[in-house]
Amino acid sequence: MSEPSSPLEEIIVVAVDGPAGSGKSTVARAVAARLGLSYLDTGAMYRSVAHAALCEDIDTEDGERMAELARRLRIEVGEQVLVDGVDCTRAIRSSEVTRAVTAAAANPQVRAEMVRRQRLWVQDRGGGVVEGRDIGTVVFPDARLKVFLTASPEERARRRAAEAGDAVATDITRRDQADSSRAHSPLATAEDAVTIDTTERTVDDVVDEITGLLAQRQLPGKGW
Ligand code: C5P
Repeated sequence: MSEPSSPLEEIIVVAVDGPAGSGKSTVARAVAARLGLSYLDTGAMYRSVAHAALCEDIDTEDGERMAELARRLRIEVGEQVLVDGVDCTRAIRSSEVTRAVTAAAANPQVRAEMVRRQRLWVQDRGGGVVEGRDIGTVVFPDARLKVFLTASPEERARRRAAEAGDAVATDITRRDQADSSRAHSPLATAEDAVTIDTTERTVDDVVDEITGLLAQRQLPGKGW
């Protein structure tokens, strides 16, 4: 990776965390477009590792092999998701990957490698809107703005079903529990995050609130 292009104090990071189906991706993407910032879907990175493990027949519970895989893979996340140059945009959304990603994301060595790459990604672009589970708590604890999105369980299941077919309600519950209870970087609300319930709100309305909050933030003394 190249030299970082921006000094830390100029970097604006908006951290968007929350459970599956909370509206994170749609909202984070729209906030980035509104602000002219880059957008990073960190879930796609963990999904890419899980997908590669399935392709290479690596047991996702095998800590060392998964760590080696995470360090070796070339993962490019943008409009498309390329894993070692292969377009995996659709493949990483399969139900097999959705099941396998839980173990991949619980591996501390896999997480350390993904976090390292996420920080480099942001530094290279001079900021960004970064979406995930641990962005405000672990990856960018000094983010300019941290939002934690929620929605009612019914609404989250409805949104995921609209995207991915049915039988996802139980999967959402399982993933929430696994993501929230794992030992390393569990899904949690950062102390200084603003929680926004997106149930029955339009995307535009939520984006307005987030850009309004960002406008209120003075330049902090420290970076991000
Ligand atoms: O965001 P998405 O639902 O695609 O994420 C897939 C999985 O990746 C999550 O269920 C979680 O286990 C993991 N993940 C994570 N940390 C992140 C982003 C995603 O552990 N920052």
